[in-house]
Amino acid sequence: MADLSLFSNEQIAALLSALPDPAFILTRSGRYAAIFGGTDSRYYHDGSSLVGKSISDVLNQEKAAWFQAQIAIALAARGLHVVEYPLAGDDVKGVGADGPVETIWFEGRVQPLEYQVMGEDAVLWVASNITASKKLEALLRMQSETDALTGLANRRKLMSGLTEHFELFARYKTPTSVLIFDIDHFKGINDEYGHLAGDKAITTTAQVCQRELRAADFPARLGGDEFVVLMPHTDADHAMKISERLRLKIAEALLELGTLGKGATISGGLSEMIAGDTSYEEVLKRADDALYLAKRNGRNRIVRHRAN
Ligand code: GH3
Ligand code: MG
Repeated sequence: MADLSLFSNEQIAALLSALPDPAFILTRSGRYAAIFGGTDSRYYHDGSSLVGKSISDVLNQEKAAWFQAQIAIALAARGLHVVEYPLAGDDVKGVGADGPVETIWFEGRVQPLEYQVMGEDAVLWVASNITASKKLEALLRMQSETDALTGLANRRKLMSGLTEHFELFARYKTPTSVLIFDIDHFKGINDEYGHLAGDKAITTTAQVCQRELRAADFPARLGGDEFVVLMPHTDADHAMKISERLRLKIAEALLELGTLGKGATISGGLSEMIAGDTSYEEVLKRADDALYLAKRNGRNRIVRHRAN
């Protein structure tokens, strides 16, 4: 604990206003009793005009209710409560026009005070601008779920999509189909036309998936020349039609590329989630078995697993 007698009142006031992040004293009913610090307008709006107002005077109803709920949580917990929230410049009426224009993400560190302010319980709410790390977090999350070559979902994202849709199937019996497909004789494409031509075949295949599939369908690159399309709300009959169309459109696009000689085709295996499946791995395994049959039976075809 600092020995405050070392400082004059003016010095203490100067110290408080030098705090890099704004610190609000907020009462239980949502009144701004005081605001210290946070004067750098690159990071914060000038909140000094908020003093004396209530949260509900300056924020829309939903946000104001959320703030008051957080104050109540911190007071009930009798200890530090940490929250994250976005605020746009125009979310807060009464702060100066100076300051950041874009939406800011804040981390709020909300500490109950041991004494009352303006006759009410109160908290110290320190708001730190965490926009930069939020943006980085979003970018990293996006990168960790995206296949770098094609921009499709990668294996990791596919597995979380499969998990989610398997749960929906288990609960609501929503028909859900899974197609695995793979470019035929892809090694030959690489060997004959070069690795870059091979890459181009892969990216073209991904583009056809994005163009031809509905928004609810979920195409992903499993790796190499192998792709998976998760089709929610789609039974195997319907999925077979979609898969056949995809097979023809991909072959068409690979031929149109003009860099692969006679073009290339794909083979696919299709399966539907069925009662008795205990995880998405079973449907994936059936689709993979069907893909194996498609390859063995001469390629350039979609085989539907016998279980469906
Ligand atoms: P099949 O008809 O049985 O599928 O024969 P295939 O030659 O396509 O055999 P397979 O699917 O096993 O071959 C995949 C090849 O894809 C092997 C690997 O060299 C190549 N490969 C994997 N990733 C990439 C990539 O990112 N770019 C390129 N150009 N080639 C890749
Ligand atoms: Mg292949």
